[in-house]
Amino acid sequence: MIREKMMGDFGKTTAANWPGAARAAVSAGLFPACANPRCRSGWMHILRRRETPVFEGGWCCSPACTAVCVEAAIRREMDGRGTAMDSHHHRIPLGLTMLQQGWITLSELRAALAAQKAAGGGKLGAWLVRKQGVSEELVTRALGLQWGCPVLGMEFHAPEGLTSLVPRFFIDAFGALPLRVAAGKILYLGFEDRLDPALALAIERMTGLRVECGLVRESQFRPAHTHMLEARFPSVELIEAGTEPALTTALANAVERFRPIEARLVRVHDCFWLRMWMGPQQGPIPELGSIRDLIGSTCS
Ligand SMILES: [Zn+2]
Repeated sequence: MIREKMMGDFGKTTAANWPGAARAAVSAGLFPACANPRCRSGWMHILRRRETPVFEGGWCCSPACTAVCVEAAIRREMDGRGTAMDSHHHRIPLGLTMLQQGWITLSELRAALAAQKAAGGGKLGAWLVRKQGVSEELVTRALGLQWGCPVLGMEFHAPEGLTSLVPRFFIDAFGALPLRVAAGKILYLGFEDRLDPALALAIERMTGLRVECGLVRESQFRPAHTHMLEARFPSVELIEAGTEPALTTALANAVERFRPIEARLVRVHDCFWLRMWMGPQQGPIPELGSIRDLIGSTCS
């Protein structure tokens, strides 16, 4: 009964709170129940005198129970594998979209396609801008139509204040750019020419913020992206494990080593992202020094 009541409390995390807020609000005086449903320590765990680690809102009474909880999270993340990114978009080619909108002429499209072919590649949009004098803004708008997303502006971009939301590794590897947080609830995430819904979903689950994706004009995106990569990010540890059980052990060991007051695990493509909060947070953007990220992957 006590466990059920507490689980109910854990579930109240809202987007406005940092992920550990609900747990921190659990009233004192109740004996915490171990998050491992198969925990065998019974009432003995009260003697363990440890309040952390907390993993995904659940207190883990022993290293063995931490390992069980981390393993269950990894299995859960593996179950969804291949669905988020594989949703195939039947997108009308960029050139055709622009033609339909009346933004380019057929001869401009033909010339750009010929230039692309002669060069052996390159983005069609870039050829339209470079060789046909088509405005970059129109190319980005057409990409937005293709992806069904807005074109986002870069006003007031202050990357230094956003680096604790997404690990630098993901910003670099997946070409995403956190733009701003609105009303403490919505994170605007910019991309150059294609969205990454899997990454957006992972960030949403990790931060509790709603993530709105959009495209940013290439000439604005590139320098801002470079600028952001030069900013200071929270500490991150990259782990490459030989097997999945080895990865589970490495992540569970990290949770035991740092004893966070909250931790979460999500999958981003082939990576597992473990985030640990070392202290309570004041707002939706974590304090730089109070979180630790681990990004793990397996060779298999
Ligand atoms: Zn336990």
